[in-house]
Amino acid sequence: MPDDRRHIPRTDTVLADPRLVEAASALGRDTVKNCVIAAQNRARRGDIPPVAVADAAVAALPRSATSLRPVINATGVVLHTNLGRAALSEAAVDALRTAAGHTDVEYDLGSGRRARRGRSALATLAAAVPAAEAVHVVNNGAAALVLTATALAAGREIVMSRGELIEIGDGFRLPELVQSTGARIREVGTTNRTVLADYADAVGPDTGFVLKVHPSNFVVHGFTADVPVSELAGLSVPVVADIGSGLLHPDALLPDEPDATSSLKHGAALVTASGDKLLGGPQAGLLLGQRDIVEQLRRHPLARALRVDKLTLAALEATIAGPVPPTRRNIRHDAAQVRARAEALRDALAEDGITADVIETASVVGGGGAPGVELPSWGVTLDQALAARLRTGDPAIVGRIDDGRLILDLRCVEPAHDDAVHEAIRHAAAQEQDS
Ligand SMILES: *Cc1c(COP(=O)(O)O)cnc(C)c1O
Repeated sequence: MPDDRRHIPRTDTVLADPRLVEAASALGRDTVKNCVIAAQNRARRGDIPPVAVADAAVAALPRSATSLRPVINATGVVLHTNLGRAALSEAAVDALRTAAGHTDVEYDLGSGRRARRGRSALATLAAAVPAAEAVHVVNNGAAALVLTATALAAGREIVMSRGELIEIGDGFRLPELVQSTGARIREVGTTNRTVLADYADAVGPDTGFVLKVHPSNFVVHGFTADVPVSELAGLSVPVVADIGSGLLHPDALLPDEPDATSSLKHGAALVTASGDKLLGGPQAGLLLGQRDIVEQLRRHPLARALRVDKLTLAALEATIAGPVPPTRRNIRHDAAQVRARAEALRDALAEDGITADVIETASVVGGGGAPGVELPSWGVTLDQALAARLRTGDPAIVGRIDDGRLILDLRCVEPAHDDAVHEAIRHAAAQEQDS
């Protein structure tokens, strides 16, 4: 063995292998070099023979320069925060490619002069919501709130119902976020009931605005009351509606979900929302409302720190102007069709000798949208032992575990990926048998 080790090829020699030269141009030289060094170390330990170093380095190459892996979402949660919320439409992905290079995001090709940044994305958003006099876009929903609180209420009061002091997720509490701007929260009402008189009593010369927040990840039942935007609009101060999910118009499938157009028509001075929830676009914070207020936000110094990049603007425009994005498609899938796909998958697996059962499931919107809404769906159940293999396979498939079984809910799986899912299960089952 020691003799053998002297024959371990030098790093430069291995890097000259045409496969690794090609990989270096796609992945970067350092990444490839690290794979070579790891392979040389394996040879030094005697794990592989010296002649196998190049092959081992090639086998260890990452598939791309990003270590983010694409995931097939079989969780049944349409907007899964841990899986990146909304999947973009093909049109939005194309737009990202266009914007990736140099682009006229802030330049007028006709005149050769500077132009308003992101004007076409903003115009598309404005055209989609005629009820808004003006629009602006920032990094996410939280940034939209921070900018609004800073510009309209720093050092002053924001009046909020105690029933709407919510935690968005992962420990982020909306009241703390708003207070971090230097605004004070004037709490009114109780957890379950707040009435117009509570707001009216609290509004005064120190009020910046009334904030109406959509409790987007829970529902309260029973002895409850809250005050709609239409009634709050009668108060003497601006009403800001944080609708959360980014629906631009009412959606008959989600009757309890607020939307930008209705909120503005009911008298909200400003609406804030996320771009990557029910709108189905990139992470972004949408601000829609009265011209003077939007202008005030746009011109605030903080706006520069929260501005979106060209990729976001491109994907947002394509999401709004382009074909129905996956998020909205997934919410609309007919359950009977999802069932037929689940049955086809079960039958295909049966031919491979793999036991899968078809199961009726309930998908949810998730990710801060349409709490309590269940979308009838279908999937297959498999041996729980396959869960880890499917998660770490290629493609990665994430389902959910219930009662000792792995459930793959097909509602949010692109039908075009059904064959890949079948193949991945077959592969995982074969590995499981060999182990
Ligand atoms: C999701 C959500 C936010 C935060 O938006 P991000 O885009 O996640 O920053 C704020 N308010 C409400 C009501 C939400 O649902």
